[in-house]
Amino acid sequence: MALELAPAPAPVPVAAGRPRIFSGIQPSGIVHLGNDLGAVRNYVRLQHDYEAIYCIVDYHALTTTHDGALLRVRTREMAASLLALGLDPERCTLFVQSDRPEHTELAWLLATVTPVSWLERTPSYKEKKLNQPDDINHGLLTYPVLQAADIVIYKASVVPVGRDQAAHLELTREIVRAFNARYGETFPAPQAVFTEAPIVLGTDGVRKMSKSVGNTIDIFAPPDVIRKQVMSMVTDTKRILRMDPGRPSVCNVCQLHRHFGPDYEAIWEGERTARTGCVDTKRLLAERIIAYYAPAREHYLELIARPDDVDEVLAAGAARLKPWAEATLAEVHAKMGLR
Ligand code: ADP
Repeated sequence: MALELAPAPAPVPVAAGRPRIFSGIQPSGIVHLGNDLGAVRNYVRLQHDYEAIYCIVDYHALTTTHDGALLRVRTREMAASLLALGLDPERCTLFVQSDRPEHTELAWLLATVTPVSWLERTPSYKEKKLNQPDDINHGLLTYPVLQAADIVIYKASVVPVGRDQAAHLELTREIVRAFNARYGETFPAPQAVFTEAPIVLGTDGVRKMSKSVGNTIDIFAPPDVIRKQVMSMVTDTKRILRMDPGRPSVCNVCQLHRHFGPDYEAIWEGERTARTGCVDTKRLLAERIIAYYAPAREHYLELIARPDDVDEVLAAGAARLKPWAEATLAEVHAKMGLR
C-alpha cells in the first residue's frame, strides 16, 4: 500500500562515482537488537562512502500480513526508527518499495529467467510454508525474485544484510548470472557485507532474533519492556546453580555485552569463574542497552510525532530514484527485445 505522497519534489541529481549499495527492511513496526547489530549499523556506517539506497519493503511484508492499514503505520514507524538510528537523508536515500512501481515490473522480467526449482529450495520459503500453512501465497515463493529486482534495479554492487539473508543474496546472484547469460551483461552480481554480529540470537538463545519468532529485544520500547525482555533471556543452560562456572562463549547474554561496554573480557571472566551470576549479567546488559539507545529513542519519539516530516523524506527518496529505476527498465526492455 502506497503512502499518500506530498507533491513530489524535484529529483536531486545523484553524485556520480560512488559505488551503490542497497538494502531492504520490512516494516514490522519495531526495530530489534538483531536488526541494529546485524544490519542497520552497517547502513549508517556505509552511507558515508557509498551511494546508499535503503528501502522499506512493504510489498514483501504483504506476503505474511494482509493488514494494509497496519502496514502503513508500521512503514512510517520503521522510517522514523532508521532515521533515529542515524540514517541521514542528506547522505542516503530512504524510500518505500511500493512507491517505486518499477521494482515489481522488473521482478516479472527477472521471473522469466528464474527456474521455479531455485525458489522452491529457498530455506525461508520452506520455513514460511510451515509457519503459515493456511496462507502459502504465491508471493512467498517469488519473494526472492522481487528482492533481486529491488537490488539490481539500482545496479547495487554491495548489500549490507544479516547472515540470515545470505541464501537470498546468493539467489539474486544466480538470477543476475542467468539474466546476463541470456541477454548480455546488464547487472553486477551484488556482494553481501556483514557486520561483526551477522547473526544475533533471540532471547531464547537458540533461534535468530526475529519478529516472527517473538524472541526480540525491542530497542525503542519503554525501559521496563527492555528490562523484561533481557531478564527473560536464556543464558548457559548447563549452568544450573549460582556457583557453577559458566561458559561465556555459548552464553548469549555475555556475547551481547561485547557490543555495549568496554569490559567484555571482565564480564567473560566473571561468568567463567562464577564470580558473577546470570541475573547480575542480565541486569547490567539491560541497563546498558537502555542507556545506549536512549538518545535514539528520544529522537524516534520526536520523529513519530511529526509524521509529515517522515513522509516527506520517504517521498523525496522515491522521487530521487525514479530516473534510475526507469533507466534500468528501459535498458532491460531493450536488451530483451521489448518495445
Ligand atoms: P526480521 O527477521 O526480524 O523480520 P527483517 O527480515 O526485516 O527482520 O530484517 C532486516 C535486516 O535485519 C536484514 O538485513 C536482516 O538480515 C537483519 N537481521 C534481522 N534479524 C537479524 C538477526 N537476528 N541477526 C542479524 N541480523 C538480522
